[in-house]
Amino acid sequence: MSVHWNWARTFYCRPRLYVEPKSIDSLRTLLNEINETKSKVRVIGCGHSPSSLSMSNEVLISMKYFNKILEIDEINHEIHCESGVLIRTLNEILPQHNLSLTVQGSVNELTIGGVISTATHGSGIKYGSISSYVRSITLMKLNGDIKEYYLDDDEDLFRCLTCSLGTFGIIISVRLQVSPLFYLELNQKPLEFHTFLNTLSIHYASSDHFRYMWYPHTNSGIAYHLNRVNPRLITNNKKSIFSRIISWFSNSLIGHHLLELLFYFSLYFPSLVRRINRMYAKLEGKTLHKIDRCDKLFNFDCLFRQYASEWAIPLDQAVSCLTELEQSMEQYKNVHFPIEIRFSKDEDLSYLSPAYGRKTCWINTVAYRPYGKIHYQHRSFFQAFEHICHKYNGRPHWAKEHPLKNEDFAQLYPKWNLFKEKREEFDPNNFLINDCLKNVFLN
Ligand SMILES: Cc1cc2nc3c(=O)[nH]c(=O)nc-3n(C[C@H](O)[C@H](O)[C@H](O)COP(=O)(O)OP(=O)(O)OC[C@H]3O[C@@H](n4cnc5c(N)ncnc54)[C@H](O)[C@@H]3O)c2cc1C
Repeated sequence: MSVHWNWARTFYCRPRLYVEPKSIDSLRTLLNEINETKSKVRVIGCGHSPSSLSMSNEVLISMKYFNKILEIDEINHEIHCESGVLIRTLNEILPQHNLSLTVQGSVNELTIGGVISTATHGSGIKYGSISSYVRSITLMKLNGDIKEYYLDDDEDLFRCLTCSLGTFGIIISVRLQVSPLFYLELNQKPLEFHTFLNTLSIHYASSDHFRYMWYPHTNSGIAYHLNRVNPRLITNNKKSIFSRIISWFSNSLIGHHLLELLFYFSLYFPSLVRRINRMYAKLEGKTLHKIDRCDKLFNFDCLFRQYASEWAIPLDQAVSCLTELEQSMEQYKNVHFPIEIRFSKDEDLSYLSPAYGRKTCWINTVAYRPYGKIHYQHRSFFQAFEHICHKYNGRPHWAKEHPLKNEDFAQLYPKWNLFKEKREEFDPNNFLINDCLKNVFLN
């Protein structure tokens, strides 16, 4: 019985049966067995979700061999790909066709099935989560039937399927609206946290993909303004050997290895965290200008293993929420940087997208696990953070840890009951509900 861990190694499971099917027929045979044995089943992409969303001690199906791009329509900017295709693969292949994903999250080692099932987002007030670009979903139901679903066939059902947490069946493939290939111009500069709060609306409205990194326990942060530009503006991005050495020194040695060591010491001396945050705010708070292909600036190094909690706050509550968060910070010694603040538009294509029906400010906190060390000190701050976000009608990121239950979600999502009804039609025996989702849908 193999053990499966998520990327952060914060959760694991020991599935009774772990399978990597290679064809529709083998998937169908598998589902017959599951129906006969009445087993619980989870379908996964990379299984990287930071919470226990992708865990099952019964049957775990990996879609890693459903990894083909089936069609690329360069004229209508649409692709059709199997659900196990990695974002990394799309970032390699699409530019060859003058296309790119419209938005993406911080890392590319994720599958298309995984990102659309959790409404994975990037940043940009004019852009939605990846789910909002889905044009069709081909789903295998638990009885083995396969159908391609479009918005026009059944609007309510489609709006459930586009962010469904793996609760409707097995997503075989997805048609996705993409963009003509674009480049991004990055203007990065230090920006004091209080100035950011006072000018938040100016910042998110003034560039295509704005994000802010705050160094908690300090008034420091970095503003990243990213604007779409013509590829012809690109200058020579090739670095000299000297600048590559400098870059390795600052990114890898100081930005990763020294930081991991310092955070390790801080587990024993928590008051060190404030100093570490202050020191890195100074080291990293530099002005930078760069133009590169979009994926190279959307993605960045998330360093090492970490606990994560992220909430989608209604945009008009963002300043109050962040102000209260800062006030609460005084009680804690050990809040790791960065607290990442991103923005997205109000969505209507996915009933369960945390940005459904409202412009959104995403607030993400992390607590690193240096050298994989398990520690629980972060819990008290995470609880305070969750409490504040919940107070401001925040909706938690589906792939990250949260304490909310069915009754809370009923208050937060206008189409919650409709989603639940549809889900029950597709999975009346709750075979697709694991422990993580029990609280969400059943309790
Ligand atoms: C380092 C890191 C950085 C991240 N950065 C961001 C970010 O910037 N923005 C953001 O929004 N999120 C971010 N996330 C969260 C991440 O995007 C989601 O957890 C995503 O779902 C992971 O993709 P995956 O392929 O590993 O999915 P999994 O963890 O394997 O699955 C996630 C969900 O999708 C379902 N699923 C997957 N494939 C299928 C399928 N074929 N059929 C049916 N259901 C399926 C699973 O059942 C599960 O419910 C990050 C996560 C990590 C680890």
